[in-house]
Parts: sequence; structure tokens; C-alpha cells
Amino acid sequence: MENPKIKSLGYRLPGQIVLNSYFSISPEVIITERNIKASIKMVIVKWILIFTVVIAGWLPARSQPSDKIVINRDIQLIPLGDSLYIHETWDELEGYGRFSSNGLVLIKGGRALMVDTPMDNEKTRRLTSYITDSLKATVTKLIIGHFHDDCLGGLGYLQSIGVEAVAHSMTIRICQEQGLPIPQTPFSDALNFDFNGEEIECRYFGAGHSADNITVWLPGRKVLFGGCLIKSMDSTGLGNLSDAVVADWDTTVGKLLKQYSGIQTVVPGHGSAGGAELLPHTIQLVEKQRMK
Ligand SMILES: [Zn+2]
Repeated sequence: MENPKIKSLGYRLPGQIVLNSYFSISPEVIITERNIKASIKMVIVKWILIFTVVIAGWLPARSQPSDKIVINRDIQLIPLGDSLYIHETWDELEGYGRFSSNGLVLIKGGRALMVDTPMDNEKTRRLTSYITDSLKATVTKLIIGHFHDDCLGGLGYLQSIGVEAVAHSMTIRICQEQGLPIPQTPFSDALNFDFNGEEIECRYFGAGHSADNITVWLPGRKVLFGGCLIKSMDSTGLGNLSDAVVADWDTTVGKLLKQYSGIQTVVPGHGSAGGAELLPHTIQLVEKQRMK
């Protein structure tokens, strides 16, 4: 996944500004054949210098190895700032191919909060052991975005090691009905808590990708985990609609836009993170879906 920080820095801009200033020749220059030749020579030398500087600055920015932590081929951590990571895990579904899913890992004072698990217990176990061994933190809490496998596929494993799982009461009810592992801490509407000094807000805005989908907001960082309710910018459709409530989806996202101001980063359930533009993009995709 492309690092949104690199994208937003716009490395080429300073180079372009410098280049533009060399297009103009000062009117005070007395034009003689010699002057013209000297000027042309100077301009050529300057252009070569500029190109060297610009290209030297541009290449490392473009080819800079990502700061992504590759745990293995299927599990990666993408840093999102101090002690906050996206956990990106890869799976293969018949007829769908290889795809990735996103969750969060927040490390505070030797403890880790996970938002959504990878799709299965084994990947969740591997991710957890990396957090323990390499990031020196114990996973103590899990927030579940909705009842699908890309949020709670590893819940069984995490509960077996004593992790507290938080979920919307509707998600818990669906888990009971479907014989899934059952998260133990319910909330309705919103749940705000302090995770070792970091404020966390879980909130239910309404139906969309599923009837029970919630979002997680980190106000100190202005990071919004939208989960499958929010689509990445390269998504051209809404994805799996098997449990979706398309009629409500755009209204739900509209409420999110109203609730949070100054959103810096939005993490969708699948695909690249971005900025607040993912929200109107999702609304557009919902409108497109309705016209079908
Ligand atoms: Zn889902």
C-alpha cells in the first residue's frame, strides 16, 4: 500500500517553482551576441544543475523503500504515526482472488489495542506474536467493527489468550444467532474510553456495509477507522453487498462527515488509507449503486 504521507508531501513542487523562475531573462541585460551566448550557456548549466537536484530529490522520494513492516507475505504493518499501525492482511477467496483487509494496532505503555482481527485465528496469532515479541506489547483489548470475518475472524484466538473484545450490542446479538465467538463488552450508540492515555471513540452512525457497522475515532490524531463502511479511493464499487443496507449507507456516512471535523486520515476496511475525501467518495459510490 502506498504511504499516504509520501503522496501528500508533493516532492516535485519545490523543483517546479525553481524551474519557473529561470524562464524569465532580466530586462536590464544588454543584448549583444556575446551576452546572448553567455546567457544561453549559463541557462544550460543552470538547467543541468536544476535537473540534477530535482531528479536527485525526486528519485529517492519515489523509490524510497516503504516503512511498511513485513511480518510475512500475508501480514504487514503500516505505520500511521507514533505507535499506531494499520494491520494489513492478505487472503484469497475463490472467484475473488487475492485481496487485503485493514485493521489498527495502537501500542501504549506496553499494551496493544487492536481494531478488527485478520480473517482467521492463525493470522491473528501470528500478528499477536509479532506485537508481543517485536513491539514488546501485550494485546489487551479488541474493538470489532461488525460481524464479518474480516473483523472478528481471529476473535476465538484472542479470547483464548484473555483479550477483552468490545462490540456494538447488535454485533453481539448477530454473533449469538450465528454461533460465532461472542464479544464480551457491549455498547450502543457510542463508547469513549481511555487506552493508557489515548482517547478512543467507538460510535454507531447507522447501517451501511452491514446493519451493525461501527467506526473508531482517535481524536488526538484525527484518525478515523471507517472499516467496510468506507471505501478506498481506488474502489469503483461498494464490494460485498450480501448484508448491506444501501438505502441507509450514504446517510450514515453523511452523519460521520458532520460529527468529525478536521479528519486527517481515514482507514477503510480494504485498500489504501487516505484523507477525508474517502467519505464523499463512498457517498458517490452508494449513489451510483442506487442508479443500477
Ligand atoms: Zn464486512
